Amino acid sequence: MKIAIIGVGTVGSAVATAVKNTGFVHEIVLFDRDGIRARAAAEDLGHAASFGFDVKISAVSNYRGIRGSDIVIISAGANQKPGETRTDLLNKNVAVIEDIVPRVMANVDAKKVKIIVVTNPLDVLVMLTQKISKLPAARVIGTGTMLDSARLRTILSRHLSVSTQSICAQVFGEHGDSSVVAWSGVTVGGFSLDEFCKQLKVSLPATTRNTISHRVHNAAYEIIQGRGATWDGIGASVSDLLRCIINDERRILTVSCVSGVQNAVAMSLPRVIGATGVIATLNPKLSSDESAALRKSAKIIKKNYDNIGK
Ligand code: NAD
Repeated sequence: MKIAIIGVGTVGSAVATAVKNTGFVHEIVLFDRDGIRARAAAEDLGHAASFGFDVKISAVSNYRGIRGSDIVIISAGANQKPGETRTDLLNKNVAVIEDIVPRVMANVDAKKVKIIVVTNPLDVLVMLTQKISKLPAARVIGTGTMLDSARLRTILSRHLSVSTQSICAQVFGEHGDSSVVAWSGVTVGGFSLDEFCKQLKVSLPATTRNTISHRVHNAAYEIIQGRGATWDGIGASVSDLLRCIINDERRILTVSCVSGVQNAVAMSLPRVIGATGVIATLNPKLSSDESAALRKSAKIIKKNYDNIGK
């Protein structure tokens, strides 16, 4: 399995680290328009790899070097500075996608390649990548709200004193400020959240739930404020998604993809992921407030997409 990572800044490097540690990938090639940075990353990661799985890591100086890649990860482009929203990155990163995707497509096998989009604003760029690449929508996947869902599970786990592994809690919609925390579908060890709280005498009133939703929405801003950027969470999200694809695991992940649901907007919904990419999309059962918030989120993504170039 050969993986190409385009854009080897903070996020691309974290993705490479997490991917090499899966043990499922035999070759990782790194491309960045800053060739010195890509070569330095390949050196450092290569040294790290010598302690673990046997994986060949190299920097390539042009797109011909990505030939033979099964999966291409796009993590290039401007990141958020403190106070900036993901949408603020739109015009800069549209240009990045317009630069990268045609070059990628000229050097991969369009019949089988999958593209994973990480660059923000994520959902809009998934739509743009799918349009430019002309790949089937099922093979252009954005990490979407995988990370937001992980944040929700982590915060809930601390409140409930139970492992994140026992919590099924999902965030849908935009990977951005309008994402929707689907409280109505949260289960813990197969129990509804209310039933779990009742039996274990845990108090989780509406005010606490609102605070948790707020923390999920603001997690990236807080991390950027304290650390300058976010990288570990997204690195782990990408490697989990990759593992699911490579092993045809058919787990349900909240990834972004253009689908007929919500008028062909790319947004995160529960999707079955396997070797061919997105195998199926589920329509979650939501409360009326959550459904309205999801429709609003879809409209925001569509509006941002329509604003490209304006
Ligand atoms: P960074 O500035 O550290 O790195 C970006 C890299 O992209 C740089 O090395 C730059 O040289 C390269 N680059 C820019 N334009 C390029 C082009 N046209 N071709 C090739 N390389 C190019 O930024 P970062 O912190 O790594 O963030 C990268 C992106 O990931 C940002 O858009 C950020 O918002 C996004 N991100 C997404 C998530 C998510 O959950 N989806 C999480 C964190 C960050």
